[in-house]
Amino acid sequence: MAQQAQSPSDFEGRPLVFRNATVISVDPTIGTLVGADVLVVDQLISAVGQRLIVPDGTLEIDASGGVLMPGMIDTHRHMYQTAMRGFGADWTLTDYFYFYYVNHGSKFRPQDVYAGNLLAAIESVDSGVTTTLDWSHGLQTTDHADAALDALERVPARFVFSYGNLAGAPQDWSTDPAFKAFVNRRLGHTTDMLSFGMSFDVPGDPEFPERAAFEVARELGVPISTHSGAWGATGDAGILLMAEHGFLTDQVTHVHVGSLSPDSYHRIAASGASASLATESEQNAGQGYPPSFRLREYGIPISLSIDTSVWWSADMFSAMRSTLNADRAREHLIAHEKKETVTSNILRADDVIRFATAGGARAIHQDESLGRITVGRKADLVLIKNDASPTMFPILNPEGHVVFQAGKGDIHTVVINGKVLKYDGKLLLHDLVAEAQAAIAETVDYLESAVGAADWEASRHPSKVEVPITINPYQWTEFSESEAGRIS
Ligand SMILES: [Zn+2]
Repeated sequence: MAQQAQSPSDFEGRPLVFRNATVISVDPTIGTLVGADVLVVDQLISAVGQRLIVPDGTLEIDASGGVLMPGMIDTHRHMYQTAMRGFGADWTLTDYFYFYYVNHGSKFRPQDVYAGNLLAAIESVDSGVTTTLDWSHGLQTTDHADAALDALERVPARFVFSYGNLAGAPQDWSTDPAFKAFVNRRLGHTTDMLSFGMSFDVPGDPEFPERAAFEVARELGVPISTHSGAWGATGDAGILLMAEHGFLTDQVTHVHVGSLSPDSYHRIAASGASASLATESEQNAGQGYPPSFRLREYGIPISLSIDTSVWWSADMFSAMRSTLNADRAREHLIAHEKKETVTSNILRADDVIRFATAGGARAIHQDESLGRITVGRKADLVLIKNDASPTMFPILNPEGHVVFQAGKGDIHTVVINGKVLKYDGKLLLHDLVAEAQAAIAETVDYLESAVGAADWEASRHPSKVEVPITINPYQWTEFSESEAGRIS
């Protein structure tokens, strides 16, 4: 007979069943089920269905009133920057480049990268992100890389450690013997919990110096993530260079892809590569209008990403919501310009859930079933259930509820690789949160003093251009009349 779970240790090594959930499986053969159970045995999803018969000793989670969905997959996040969460809310892309290329970013020590990565890794679990691609471009030395990886290894979630170094050219750091030694030392035995990749950009130098880095990736057999079509930084020249030199393949994932020509979109689609949309980033930093409409037009598979919490939201609910909002806002704008009304939305709630799950699996070169609730696959699951919240009932449209009503505060349970890491709204990561708080406090103190108080303050509050208010003839008339009356 099934028992109720009481404490974290109750979960260890025992089958687990979610009872009476609304299940958004993202698996087209299963669909969305109401009043369904999902059984997890060892690391795997063992059964999905109504009133499942479960093994003796199975622990039971009452999922009634909740939505069970696959773990979300964030395909592009600069995790170390979480150390300065929210600092740059009013930045432009120019402010960001100054911050990370010239000023503060260069001052990150290995322990600061560790602190940021640890906090971001814990946050992933807390917010239902079961796999995160760490676009780790703050690795000025391999000591920084060791620190970044040490932090990821503290948290039993899935990660893709995508090595980068914005302080150096990719052709230099990737061919440095220290990089190869690091790879041999730390990444010789990657698992399905931790895989490895490389992250760098191709700005368009006709000499294509990045060739050496592509060759290293090919030799190591690892995928590449690159910011493509980011207005003012990367564009068609980079895509053409990759294509002409034989490196525009399905082993490259393109981040942002907002500002490219039709030819480049066709080339990316033909290569079989996926895109990573960071919609809040594209809306705020201007890499190009969030291109879900273009990717749809050219048939390029979409995943979603957070990019950086130094600036924007750090959860996939925001990523899903902003993607739907941006796509629909554009449809309305185009219709209004033609004096028409939108009568049918193209992008739907279930589409952005698919982008955030199965689409993410594809973009990190995994089988899409990693982002689905599919029998026989690894169990990465998120239960959204919050009985105390007036926002969590009624649930009449499960996909719409996840995208527009729920938030990360409503996450009840997170299972990664069959292991319960969050239950009843509380993280089961022992003392890691306190450790991360202490490490972050030390890092923030250090950075503020290393940068200097004046620069610190100036970069938090970038200068503002005043926009004049349009002259309003109605206000002007009222003013004139009252003034005229007073004078007479
Ligand atoms: Zn990025």
